[in-house]
Amino acid sequence: MDLVMNSQSAIDLENKYSAHNYHPLPAVLARGEGVFVWDIEDKKYYDFLSAYSAVNQGHCHPKIIQALKEQAEKLTLTSRAFYSDALGMYTEFMTSYFGYEKVLPMNTGAEAVETAIKLCRKWGYEKKGVTPNQAKIVVFDGNFHGRTTTIISFSNDPDAYNNYGPLTTGFVKIPYNDTVALQRELTDPNIVGVLVEPIQGEAGVFVPDDGYLAALKKNCRTNNVLFIGDEIQTGIARTGKLLATDYEDARPDILILGKALAGGVYPVSAVLADNHIMEVIRPGQHGSTFGGNPLGSKVAIAALEVVRDENLADNAMRLGEIFRERTTSFIEKNELIQLVRGKGLLNAIVINDSPDSMTAWNICLKLKDNGLLAKPTHGNIIRFAPPLVMTEEQLHDCCDIIERSIRAF
Ligand code: PLP
Repeated sequence: MDLVMNSQSAIDLENKYSAHNYHPLPAVLARGEGVFVWDIEDKKYYDFLSAYSAVNQGHCHPKIIQALKEQAEKLTLTSRAFYSDALGMYTEFMTSYFGYEKVLPMNTGAEAVETAIKLCRKWGYEKKGVTPNQAKIVVFDGNFHGRTTTIISFSNDPDAYNNYGPLTTGFVKIPYNDTVALQRELTDPNIVGVLVEPIQGEAGVFVPDDGYLAALKKNCRTNNVLFIGDEIQTGIARTGKLLATDYEDARPDILILGKALAGGVYPVSAVLADNHIMEVIRPGQHGSTFGGNPLGSKVAIAALEVVRDENLADNAMRLGEIFRERTTSFIEKNELIQLVRGKGLLNAIVINDSPDSMTAWNICLKLKDNGLLAKPTHGNIIRFAPPLVMTEEQLHDCCDIIERSIRAF
């Protein structure tokens, strides 16, 4: 095999042998540390995407890597055919960290969402008494929960669902941030759950009105419906609190976590719920060979300790306010940017151009030239989600780069 010598040859190699299911920005990364990544030619960039919020703790955090190394030399995988000395410790840690009675460990985000859907439906039949095969789950316009066949069945995005049919039924889609639509739908006795992102990340960082999540929770309680919170992107300190639902009286009945749960070092996801819900899944009724493995368990404990010990939620809250303040005052003098929105360090700017224009993409190329990596989410929206270990000085440096790059247009 030829040695990869430069960015272009790496891109050519990937294009030749990898399925073309992504459209990456032409940055070929070879190394990462904290808020920085370096490409093959050793150009240094601020990472302003954090692998879609999986690297909240920063790249290659030494404590997380240490946990990975230590456990990798001891025991990596047992499957759930046996107990391990790590899983009990991990599940005790997780349940007390997030305040639930039980956790069901999985690997990727989509798997955890699938798990939550199965758990919710089973609860609907066995606890709520819904007629077999009639259960429905409420979802929202603009949702993104992953890429499995069931999940793409309720997507609004034709790229996600076209020609992947037949699609899974049993979902009712309503507008996001619309309490009236929600109230109307939840009176249907076959509704067993509401699956919601507390902020719609992939859709372009849509933040619902204050009070919306609390109203959702209240409506779920009144109608004996489970509130399923997908905090895969918003959770683990990203929005300035441990969970985005912590901003209101809106504790999910079923909480879904992934991504930064293991600091971007290893795929670990989880579904949390209390006993009266989780007990409907019994031995043999759900599982995963890798879910809850010793390596992932130890890495996740270390990753969550970093979040707590380094006060990452507070840092995200403080830096997020500075970012939006600076960007708002920049926008007042720049017509190309329509608005900035977000919470903590999950933010987006909306470009004053049609959603199918190339402006957002071209701004991202300019940002890259100037040493900062970000990616458009949908057409004219650019998401900004740096690692939460960023300092205030670094954030100001990044704002300078962003402003300079946008001024070039
Ligand atoms: N749910 C949300 C809210 C997400 O943002 C994502 C990924 O971006 C997923 C689920 C899917 O996670 P994964 O890509 O690990 O399957």
